[in-house]
Amino acid sequence: GLEQEEDRPEDLKARPPVITVMGHVDHGKTSLLDAIRNTNVTSREAGGITQHIGASEVEVHGNKIVFLDTPGHEAFTSMRARGASITDIAILVVAADDGVMPQTKEAINHAKAANVPIIVAMNKIDKPGINSDRVKQELSDHGILIEEWGGETILVPVSAKTGEGIETLLEMILLAAEMLELKANPKRYATGTVIEAKLDKGRGPVATILIQNGTLKVGDSVVAGSSYGRIRAMINDKGKQIKKAGPSTPVEILGLSDAPEAGDLFHAVKEDKIARQIVEKRKAKDREENLNATAKVTLEDLFKHIQEGSVKELNIIVKADVQGSVEAVKQSLVKLSNEEVKVKVIHGGVGTITESDIKLASASNAIIIGFNVRPSTAVENLAERENIDLRTYRIIYEAIADVEAAMKGMLDPVYKEVVLGKTEIRATFKVPGIGTIGGAYVLDGKITRNAKIRLIRDGIVIHEGEISSLKRFKDDAKEVAAGYECGVGIANYNDLKEGDIVEAFIIEEVKRV
Ligand code: GDP
Repeated sequence: GLEQEEDRPEDLKARPPVITVMGHVDHGKTSLLDAIRNTNVTSREAGGITQHIGASEVEVHGNKIVFLDTPGHEAFTSMRARGASITDIAILVVAADDGVMPQTKEAINHAKAANVPIIVAMNKIDKPGINSDRVKQELSDHGILIEEWGGETILVPVSAKTGEGIETLLEMILLAAEMLELKANPKRYATGTVIEAKLDKGRGPVATILIQNGTLKVGDSVVAGSSYGRIRAMINDKGKQIKKAGPSTPVEILGLSDAPEAGDLFHAVKEDKIARQIVEKRKAKDREENLNATAKVTLEDLFKHIQEGSVKELNIIVKADVQGSVEAVKQSLVKLSNEEVKVKVIHGGVGTITESDIKLASASNAIIIGFNVRPSTAVENLAERENIDLRTYRIIYEAIADVEAAMKGMLDPVYKEVVLGKTEIRATFKVPGIGTIGGAYVLDGKITRNAKIRLIRDGIVIHEGEISSLKRFKDDAKEVAAGYECGVGIANYNDLKEGDIVEAFIIEEVKRV
């Protein structure tokens, strides 16, 4: 089985810290990661073009630090939702010229909920007119009291642009990591977490895993979620093939039976047979749970159909650059389901939006949401021809806000009456072939040609209907405003009298908020 036997204290060795960079959009998470990687002389010495494997290693004074590449809290939350905890320290990027913003607060909350210490990187200090006290105050207002102000949180002023402060930030990370006394046992079978995974055309299932304990070697039998296999090759963050990898090492592995999901736990086991057995058991359990889940949904659906006549469904296809984002977007979207509209993610996957996505959307009346991916022009054109609603986003909550809006659009519209104005009939004329026309004066508001009307005599509504003609002098008028005279004819009504009030109104769709 996979029950963990305790590591003996003498086997525990220090391991590098694993860092997640979080913060508000545009505060410089990506730039900071890039700047950090550029200070990493070893990667340049190695001459390798840094390959994107979802995490990267940086060496500072001979000490390693591992950075998870997926910036932002989405991946972090999605992983945590799946029970994985892989971050030792969170770097909270706050742009000095912008201060604490909504996603900064979210990041603070997520890090606190996960009990992960925060180091603040106050970024963009190269900009003129920075008021860092304001940033510090805002942080303190949100429960982050920095050392300088008597608190415990380290704040490092940095510029991802000029590189200022980056060295200090890295040193502070090492210092904080030292306090955490992070240890692991390199002697045992490897365990870890899947950071991202994809199905590569040429190489088959490819997964990036973070080894959290033990050492993984080429040839090891492994289990990752509901996939298994034997490690055929391991590639590090510099794109180099390696034979073994110890604790806190991010590696890309080849040899799995299929692509696991981000957040899946990873284990090396003694032999293939065990790996296969574990996965078979897991799959059987999943099938059972799925069967139950399907039965439940159907019953609920049935119940709802009977109760309210029908439930509307919003089908969505989610495509994103990494599995972590697919999961995060999926989870957030499904949560939007309410009594009236059910949100169903009918397909989610890593990679760009393809022709087959458009076809699926067309067949199942779905909208497509792309997250950090863009379709080719050919695919875009196909979407247009097929009338597919295809939207791309960079920020998760923008996607969610849009889907919420789309859901409201699906609901039966609610209407309300809007009174336009009152017009008084001051004289009546019989016009041969047309009927009775009222010589009228608009008391307040206005009367329009396409309005509905209500005829009021002595305070009682005696007729409701439509206007058949509206004229100013001899000319047809679209609308006549208060203080002007006009000629009014009411459709199918020939009994206008002096003193009658014509109330004009329209029926308007209520915007849901
Ligand atoms: P992210 O959305 O948090 O990943 O932010 P980005 O790294 O994409 O940065 C957003 C914008 O801020 C980009 O235009 C960057 O060039 C700019 N930026 C990032 N860091 C700095 C910095 O230290 N100084 C200045 N002046 N601009 C920065």
